[in-house]
Amino acid sequence: MPRSVRTRITLLATSVTLGICIVVCTALYIGLFLSLHREVDAFLDGEVREFQAILEHEEDDELKEIEREIRNELGGRPGGDLTFRLLDAQGRLLITSDPTDSFPNPWVPAQPLSATDAEHQTHSGNGLLPSLRFCSRRVTLRRHGDVIVQATYRLDRVDRSLSVCRWVCFTAVLLAAILSFLGGHMVARNSMRPVAAMTQSARSITAKQLSLRVPRSGTNDEIDELANTLNNMLERIEAGVQRIQQFTADAAHELRTPLTALRGNAEFALSQPRSVEQLKGVIEQSLDYYRILSRVTDDLLLLARLDAGQEPLQAEPCSLSLMVDEVVDLYRPLAADHGIEIRVHSPDVVTASIDAGKIRRVISNLLDNAIKYMGGPGSVTIGLSGMNGTATIHIDDTGSGIPPDDLPHIFERFYRVDRARSVTPGSDTRSIGLGLAICRSILHAHGGELNIQSTQGKGTKVEVVLPRLPDSPR
Ligand code: ADP
Repeated sequence: MPRSVRTRITLLATSVTLGICIVVCTALYIGLFLSLHREVDAFLDGEVREFQAILEHEEDDELKEIEREIRNELGGRPGGDLTFRLLDAQGRLLITSDPTDSFPNPWVPAQPLSATDAEHQTHSGNGLLPSLRFCSRRVTLRRHGDVIVQATYRLDRVDRSLSVCRWVCFTAVLLAAILSFLGGHMVARNSMRPVAAMTQSARSITAKQLSLRVPRSGTNDEIDELANTLNNMLERIEAGVQRIQQFTADAAHELRTPLTALRGNAEFALSQPRSVEQLKGVIEQSLDYYRILSRVTDDLLLLARLDAGQEPLQAEPCSLSLMVDEVVDLYRPLAADHGIEIRVHSPDVVTASIDAGKIRRVISNLLDNAIKYMGGPGSVTIGLSGMNGTATIHIDDTGSGIPPDDLPHIFERFYRVDRARSVTPGSDTRSIGLGLAICRSILHAHGGELNIQSTQGKGTKVEVVLPRLPDSPR
């Protein structure tokens, strides 16, 4: 099987056309052959009948006289197309319309002649005789007894017609083969041209040139569809690679800040003799930076494992109502310090099959954000409900809200609305922009969802949706 699609299409077109032509020509040839032979047979039947009529009319005459008669009446010519013969019952020649007749004498029929029907036979030509078709009939004459009446027709003309037909068919098949080969080759070349152009462009697309696209021919056919699909795929790959590049740059940036600070601390401690108090201060500050570093690396590792589906979920039935109460109790003192009131509205006991540690982290993270970004006194309302097979936790705050331009990006890794609130030791070590990304990945791993709506200056509404245990008590 040739490897090139172009060659395969060409060969297929040629062989199909060739096959059709051969079948059509063979059918035509067989049809012509049969129809010519049928016509010759019908003609010979008529001639034999006419010959028989003459014989019956001249029955009492001498054979010589009859022979003269038929040579005159039936137009028998030496070497002519049509010859009449009268044979006795043993096949011996009695009369012939052709004086140069070299037909076998005596003639032995291939099978005994029927008493009623005319028999048609073909004598394929040999050195002495041309190919002949003849019709023989047994008749009984009053004076001459049982005889065989025979008319013979030379098949030269028929053979010539058939031979012309064979040549026409052969030429037609040959022409069809050449034309279909050329046509198939042209069609294949034209239809494969866009594919060749796509291959050429695809070769030049590398990781550094992901903005290139494969060309479209504009015909809206399957190949254009393929080009569209490839281009859409390239767009997704480009966006993915850009995300990875951005993520790598952000991660490096986040790690560089504490690392630079740690180096600065070490240089400060070693640059000249320091008092124990000074060294203690340096070590305490360094410890904060170590905590930030380990937090960032832990979060990155968790995200990578969640992305790869390698973070095992220890799912077990768990009361979300109890969990919310525990997390709220933990954050109440911090909220009170900032003049924030936390209200819990949970009329039902809602149970879900969850990894308790991870979902606790999600609720803590979201409550922490609500308090952290409140920007002054206010309130946070937590609502818990279970309906239609899902458990929903609402965390609504009356804080400053998220600007509309930032809202679509808050799930991106390392994205922070206020970049100034970066990783600084002591005050706010948790603001690294990975919290919401981790929350969403954890919820997706549970088959859940995280939705955020926010109005700047009014507050933020966070919705956590989790699949609920079907038989959870209400
Ligand atoms: P981090 O809190 O570590 O900065 P997050 O991924 O949790 O990172 O949040 C991303 C950004 O979304 C935050 O920088 C913050 O600006 C904004 N944000 C999240 N939650 C709230 C909220 N409840 N109110 C206002 N802004 C919020």
